[in-house]
Amino acid sequence: LTRPYDANNVFAKILRREIPVEILYEDDFALAFPDITPQAAIHVLIIPKGAYVSASDFGASASDLEIAGYARAISNVATQLGLQEAGYRLISNAGPDAGQEVPHYHVHLLAGEKLSAKLI
Ligand code: 5GP
Repeated sequence: LTRPYDANNVFAKILRREIPVEILYEDDFALAFPDITPQAAIHVLIIPKGAYVSASDFGASASDLEIAGYARAISNVATQLGLQEAGYRLISNAGPDAGQEVPHYHVHLLAGEKLSAKLI
């Protein structure tokens, strides 16, 4: 059982436009905006529009269309930012052991420099 979705988490507020962000990419399935505390020269958060807590919740509950759309959106963001050549890193934290802070499923895209602290 995953945790219940908290409709007042910060990314839900961003999706409702209650907290302003610079929108870098948006389609029917996803929204991308800069992380407020960047950990690399480029640090973008890519979130699905649906109310999912984590990758587990998303995989278990989202429709195939949403899952495909979100995967495509991540690819589109990397392309739009012109990162195919130089590269980028995708990270998603889920739950307490990973230190997930915002309980709305998201992928971090890190790029724009030689990235350090490679874990795997
Ligand atoms: P997590 O630890 O949950 O994987 O990462 C959550 C991320 O959301 C953090 O990197 C944090 O800096 C970012 N974040 C938290 N609040 C806001 C906000 O209000 N606006 C933006 N743009 N990013 C935020």
